[in-house]
Amino acid sequence: MLTIEKLNKNFNGNQVLKAIDLTFEPGETTVILGSSGSGKSTLLRSIDLLETPDSGTITIDQDKLSFPQNLSFRQLKEYRGHFSIVFQAYNLFPHLTVIQNVMEGPTQVKKIPKDQARKQAEILLEKVGLSDKALERPKQLSGGQMQRVAIARALAMEPEFMLYDEPTSALDPELAQEVLQVIKELAEAGNGQIVVTHHLEFARKVADRIVFLEDGKVTFDGSSQAFFESDNPRIQRYLQQFL
Ligand code: ATP
Ligand code: MG
Repeated sequence: MLTIEKLNKNFNGNQVLKAIDLTFEPGETTVILGSSGSGKSTLLRSIDLLETPDSGTITIDQDKLSFPQNLSFRQLKEYRGHFSIVFQAYNLFPHLTVIQNVMEGPTQVKKIPKDQARKQAEILLEKVGLSDKALERPKQLSGGQMQRVAIARALAMEPEFMLYDEPTSALDPELAQEVLQVIKELAEAGNGQIVVTHHLEFARKVADRIVFLEDGKVTFDGSSQAFFESDNPRIQRYLQQFL
């Protein structure tokens, strides 16, 4: 379980996260919605400690971090092992094959034997529908395929939570659907996922829960059904932009 309490983050005096309180259960898929600039990416990046919160606490399992805090490199590495983050751009290693990209983290970071990492990578590539591309290089793939490799690579680290920051926003609609389908299947398989996306259909169908951010504050936290049926005028205005 991941618990965030009273988390604050500012950039040059601009308060971007304002006393965020959230709890994420393992196996649950949460979709984070909110207008541009509301703080979605900063929240995800703060969870992974790519940004350092100014104050507040983050508790994962029994480990509680209180900010401000300077973590050692080792503590940071251990903390980050709970999460894998997938960005808009896939950042695959261009000189490695697809399967080598997926094996890289387990062999280099986790020091897992190559044979074992390869077997695991084969299973993950099957999961994301790319078994036949294992020996290709990233540049031979479509954007949607590259993003699915990025997801397999993130899964290979066996995180408790997969974090996605608009994983489909660089893709054509059809390719976006391929990627969303994979994330949906992972949700059904019971992966813990926190997904920032503007795909409302995906949010409606896949999210166990929706968190709505406005100006750095959580103003809705509940079931997707309750969100889409909300009569809150600001939520309605947000939804109407996408009609
Ligand atoms: P979008 O939907 O456009 O991706 P977002 O909800 O992800 O928006 P954030 O990227 O978290 O929003 O940004 C929230 C606010 O923090 C914005 O006002 C942004 O300009 C500011 N901000 C984000 N990162 C930085 C940074 N590294 N330095 C300074 N300001 C930042
Ligand atoms: Mg963002």
